[in-house]
Amino acid sequence: MKVFSFPRGGILFEDPTVPPKDSCVTAFLPGLSVIPLVQHTGGRAYPIVSVGDYVREGMLIGRGQGLGSANIHAAVPGRVIRMVSWKAAGGSPNEALVIRMEGSFEKLGKRVEHFPWQGLSIYELQRIVSEYGIVEMDGPGRPVSDMLSSLRSLKEPLTLVVRCVFDDPWLVADYVLCRERIKAVVEGSCIAARASRAVRIIFAVSHGEKDLGRMLLAEAESFDIPVSMILVSSRYPQRNQRELDLVLRMYGKKEGIELGYILSFGPATLAAIFDAVKLKKPILERYVAVGGSAVKKAQVMKVRIGTRIGEIFAECGGFIDKPKRIAAGSPLLGRTVVDLDEPVIKTTYAVFAVLGGQAGNALPGSCISCGECRAVCPVGLDPEELYKKAAITDSREPDSGRAPECHGCGCCDVVCPSRLLLSSSIVNSAYRGY
Ligand code: SF4
Ligand code: SF4
Repeated sequence: MKVFSFPRGGILFEDPTVPPKDSCVTAFLPGLSVIPLVQHTGGRAYPIVSVGDYVREGMLIGRGQGLGSANIHAAVPGRVIRMVSWKAAGGSPNEALVIRMEGSFEKLGKRVEHFPWQGLSIYELQRIVSEYGIVEMDGPGRPVSDMLSSLRSLKEPLTLVVRCVFDDPWLVADYVLCRERIKAVVEGSCIAARASRAVRIIFAVSHGEKDLGRMLLAEAESFDIPVSMILVSSRYPQRNQRELDLVLRMYGKKEGIELGYILSFGPATLAAIFDAVKLKKPILERYVAVGGSAVKKAQVMKVRIGTRIGEIFAECGGFIDKPKRIAAGSPLLGRTVVDLDEPVIKTTYAVFAVLGGQAGNALPGSCISCGECRAVCPVGLDPEELYKKAAITDSREPDSGRAPECHGCGCCDVVCPSRLLLSSSIVNSAYRGY
């Protein structure tokens, strides 16, 4: 079977400190959970409970404020004991409700009821997804209901793509979820296809995971929608929208299929859509990869939203030595965690802690014009030139050249022997002044 790949650049990213694929443990329930009022790239929800109130497991505690905002639910039952605020890395303000766990669980350990969705209208499906605060759990975190409703006036056909593309080893939690919850991923993709009026589903599966692709296809057989599989390269950033679209268009041309608009979701988001529609359950927990050179035992964990990051490191045996950097996400695109009391949120697919010598630690040097960054840029940009231009151009003016084409994949950062922060400088220069 042909393996489709984006035409240029990219890197083969390997990291021996990621957790193994066969590890998955359920983390302890958090005695104190910290539930931020915004858990994605978007607007904050408005709290609808007060300090002192008792909240049930899965209860709505923050209401989304229109476009870009998402509802927030209590991940455990308990008492709201305080409201906290802090500044995340980069200075963005955050607020959270702190819940002390008490009382009984309404969902955990209870018999699961399945609700039929085939008879529901598209608008009802979109409303449910919005009510349960479903956001993309592996990308920028856009609210799924916003994405679906923006497609209402679409005239062309739509293809729903299931992104089982593991071009970054730190996506191992997604991989484990895909294996453990394959029925939920497949049925979630059928629900998403119906809610978006998709005419077909394509499973985009990393080269080397053909078996997983076959299992997905077999699960999808009982649903009344055309499905197919495309094998794609495991080279990073194959999973990015631009690189994925490129290979899907190649595939469509080869197969004589008109794909039209491409909407893609990762497995965690699709399982969350399934939980919302079929089980009437918001996002209460998620799979998280926990590792890095500073962590004693790297493992994939099923973690309640709101669990403090320090607690999950402690469950992994703690640190070998004082970490130089702690971050959420992948070393390629991670966000620095400034406080171990920061919680796991809907979009936390990985957390890592590193000793010296791993990505993000060495101090930047000077450009030696080696050309490595040019060789790996999938867009064909010259990161060296753009970086130097960004450093000398008037810092109030956005770059009028090719900087806006950069999609911040970070390939150039990884290969730069001088450890220059190329991608962030280039992206910032493209948008400064806005
Ligand atoms: S971050 Fe931008 S400049 Fe660097 S490799 Fe990716 S697209 Fe190219
Ligand atoms: S990889 Fe780094 S050192 Fe080499 S040319 Fe690019 S910016 Fe300069």
